[in-house]
Formats: sequence, C-alpha cells, structure tokens
Amino acid sequence: MEKKVYLDYSATTPVKQEVFDAMLPYFMAEFGNPSSIYQIGIENKNAISEAREKVAKLIGAEDKEIFFTSGGTESDNWALCGAVRMLRKEGKNHIITTAIEHHAIHHTCEFLKEYEGCEYTYLPVDEKGRVNPEDLEAAITDKTAIVSIMLANNEIGTIQDIKALSDIAHAKGVLFHTDAVQAIGNVKIDVKAMGIDMLSMSAHKIYGPKGVGAFYLKKGIKLPNFIQGGGQEKGHRAGTENVAGIVGFGKAAELALENIDKHIAEVSSKRDYFEKSLLEKIPEIEVNGDTANRLPGNCNILFHYIEGEALLLFMDMKNIFVSTGSACSSSSGAASHVLRACGIPEELALSTIRFTVGDLTTREDLDYAIGEIVQIVEKLRAISPFNKNNKWQV
Ligand code: PLP
Repeated sequence: MEKKVYLDYSATTPVKQEVFDAMLPYFMAEFGNPSSIYQIGIENKNAISEAREKVAKLIGAEDKEIFFTSGGTESDNWALCGAVRMLRKEGKNHIITTAIEHHAIHHTCEFLKEYEGCEYTYLPVDEKGRVNPEDLEAAITDKTAIVSIMLANNEIGTIQDIKALSDIAHAKGVLFHTDAVQAIGNVKIDVKAMGIDMLSMSAHKIYGPKGVGAFYLKKGIKLPNFIQGGGQEKGHRAGTENVAGIVGFGKAAELALENIDKHIAEVSSKRDYFEKSLLEKIPEIEVNGDTANRLPGNCNILFHYIEGEALLLFMDMKNIFVSTGSACSSSSGAASHVLRACGIPEELALSTIRFTVGDLTTREDLDYAIGEIVQIVEKLRAISPFNKNNKWQV
C-alpha cells in the first residue's frame, strides 16, 4: 500500500477503534429514541448520561453543566449569542474576544453586529500569539456582556493564561468563555480552578466522531435556550440527540483523560523531533508561535522564499497531508489572520505551513516527511520568484 502521512491532527483526528466499537451498537441494535419512555429509549438516555459524565470529568465540570451540541462551532455560537441575548436588557451588548480566534467566534461576532446591533472588540496579541491581560482590562466597559478567549490556538498552538484573563473579566462582573476545541485532551483543564463560565469542545479533535461537541455552562448561569423544540438537553438545545456521536465523544473523552500525561509527552516528543530535524536540514525557516507554551502536536513553520500553498500541493503529491492555516479557511487563499495578528507580514504569512502530529504518527512517518520536505523545499526555492527580501522579483 502507498505510504500516506497525515500531519494535520489539528484539522481532525481519526476515530479510535475503542470509540468506534462503543458507537457501533447505537446505529442498529440500540436504535431507540432517548426521549421514548420504554426500554430501548431509556437505554439510550442512560448511554447519553454516561457520556455526559465522561465529558464533564475531562474538564473538571459536573455532568449537569454539560450540554451536547453539533460541535465546537455551535458551542461558540451558543456562548456569544446566549450572553448578549441574556444581557441585552441590562444594556450589555459588547463582546470582547481576540484577533486570533477561530471563525466560529469571529463570524458570530460579525453576525451579531449586523443582525442584533452588538459591538465587538478584538484584542491584539504579541508576536507569539499571547494576549496581554492589561489589554483585556482596558477593553472592558459597562456594556461588555462576555469575554471570549481561546484556550489554545488552532494554527500556532499558543496556550493562553486563562486564569489571569478570567480573573480580570470576573473582577469587572463579566462572563468568561473559552474555546477549548484544540485544548481538550492536550492541556489539563479544570474549569473551576481556571475560572471558566462557558467552554466549547468538539469530539473530532480527540479521536472521536465529527458533528458532535459539547458546551459547558457553569451552574447558576441562566442563558436563554439556544435551539427551540422538544425538551432535549434540559430544553436548552432541542433536537433528537446524536446518540452514537455522543457515546463516541464520551469514550474519546474517557480515553483522553486516562492517557493525557502519556499523550502530551509522546506527541510533544514526536513534534520536537520533527521540528528539530527540519530546522537542522533546511536553512531559513522559522517556527511561529510560543515554543515555550504551545499545544503538544503543533509545529507552525515559515519557509522563506516559498509559497505555502505550493509546498502543500507538492507534499500532497507525495501523500503528506498538512495545511497552510486552519482547515476551515485554508481554501480562501488569504493570509492567515492569526499570523497577521502576530505581526507577520502578509507575504511571509503566505509562506507558512501548519504541521500537527498526533497519537498515530510514527517515527517512520516523520522520517519520510522530513526527507520529502527537504527535497521539495530545495526544488521550490530553485524556481522561486521571490528574492531574498521575500518580494517578487521584477
Ligand atoms: N474552534 C477551534 C479553535 C477550532 O480549531 C475548530 C475546528 O477546527 C472549531 C472551533 C470548530 O469546531 P467544529 O469543527 O467541531 O465545529
């Protein structure tokens, strides 16, 4: 079989065998509707409760604080829409977030501005992608309804000091949400100790299925219901539950928690080997992000004098799968808003590749990828229309 090397674990992850096995019965044998009050319905309801406990445990929450959704995007929408809809009557319609959030946050801000008259502020970040707590403090006004700052960035992997940031929001009486889609399973999370009021998660980043996620809502916070319909998820998020998906998410969360130390150690060691090898073998490349405090699998590299997209396509021809930015925006051709926010000029931001390694990445995969990348970079630089200043030659 042809060798295929997947180095895009931040885009999505393969479902683990144990997760798949746990899900399988819920497609056929255990097909009941969890709202039905006879046996095969109740069995499904119980399976959802078990999954809820497992997901809650992963972030140090109580199970009644977890609501299943269709994924990270929906959870992010719920946090922002819920907060401004709840607090609008108190004159609060302002959202504070950062310049490096996922589009699930940015596009929700833009939507709420256009259709619901909200305002938003994007906090700047430094060259490593870190938010300065003083900037947050200065941005909060008496109209601020919610602060939303991602726990870990999906492109450069930078991990924020969430406790310092949530403390500032709370000192001013403002709700604090974090998008932890990339962080769960990769960073130890305790929502209570970190002062988090709302948190977004997604199953497919932790070896679970796509199309299922969860929203943590601290008990006592009364957001308006997000999706109207039947009484599922205590009426907050109606719609017949994706039972197989939820069970898969529960299993993936259980495995992620059990293996978190091993996962962090092994994945960061593979990433370090890969990164060090590229830095040794290829001149004029740079690592983006906060190398002292980033996601274990993340390696975001700027290859001077090469267009990232060309590199990606040549790697694709060699069966090496990576991305130039987040999977959701990589087809846009525009420079990454995350790298631009870190102060990287547009032409350099376009010369960047995000590699992310994961549990199934082998040393052999990495050696194959390193060998091919060295050759591709040489080939592309030989024909590059960029000069040494990264400007087009005329
Ligand atoms: N937030 C971040 C940081 C992400 O990386 C992603 C997906 O890549 C999402 C939100 C969206 O999650 P989902 O794909 O589950 O909708």
